[in-house]
Amino acid sequence: MSALLEVEDLCASYGASQALFGVSFTLKEGCALALMGRNGMGKTTTIACITRMMAANSGRISFAGQDLSRLPSHRAARLGLGLVPEGRRAFAGLTVRENLMAAARRGEWTMARVCALFPRLAERAGQRAETLSGGEQQMLVIGRALMTNPKLLILDEATEGLAPVVRAEIWAAIRELKAQGQSILVVDKSLRELATVADDCVVLERGRDVWHGSPAALSGDLAQQYLGV
Ligand code: ATP
Repeated sequence: MSALLEVEDLCASYGASQALFGVSFTLKEGCALALMGRNGMGKTTTIACITRMMAANSGRISFAGQDLSRLPSHRAARLGLGLVPEGRRAFAGLTVRENLMAAARRGEWTMARVCALFPRLAERAGQRAETLSGGEQQMLVIGRALMTNPKLLILDEATEGLAPVVRAEIWAAIRELKAQGQSILVVDKSLRELATVADDCVVLERGRDVWHGSPAALSGDLAQQYLGV
């Protein structure tokens, strides 16, 4: 399968403090790649560079055959990067339907398809987002990203802080998306859940990619060393 996203020797800084020291990985079309590592190792920074929220110091990012390195973030979104950022909220004052329709772009994803994936959103289509539970809001935020018909869905800690039962629902939806052929870049702390969707894992340590492999191979001592689990 061809590469959808190629990150090569990415370096990035916050002012004088360097956060990424040469991160490289490849995500193939239709695959799910997990970006892993303990807190502060550079996962969110890597995603910020890919989505052009942050300018890299150096390195190359190519997506769907285009060099992203020089594009502003609104252009990157139009190329098909659907980001669900850490801690993101829906538009509180808009209804579920309005939230979804505001994000809609032409393609295979419709409100009906999002509601088939997350039936709770169908039940609450006319409710304002601020009246939803945290888990339902997160489903709405993922639904919004899907409504843009992304070539790549990027999930940064999409189940953080949610109740176990809601987490399970969201992971089931992520597995369903993967089965439907959606390419996914996912950051999460749960190795057990990641193992059910990720084809490949990349571990970051202090801003470097220090390990690449399958989730099954990342267990025991390795998981302890890199993830502290
Ligand atoms: P977490 O799981 O905690 O989100 P992470 O792996 O996503 O961790 P990053 O958020 O990418 O890590 O952080 C990488 C490094 O950059 C850390 O040393 C962090 O302290 C630093 N950093 C992150 N955001 C900023 C910022 N806005 N200003 C300065 N330094 C930052």
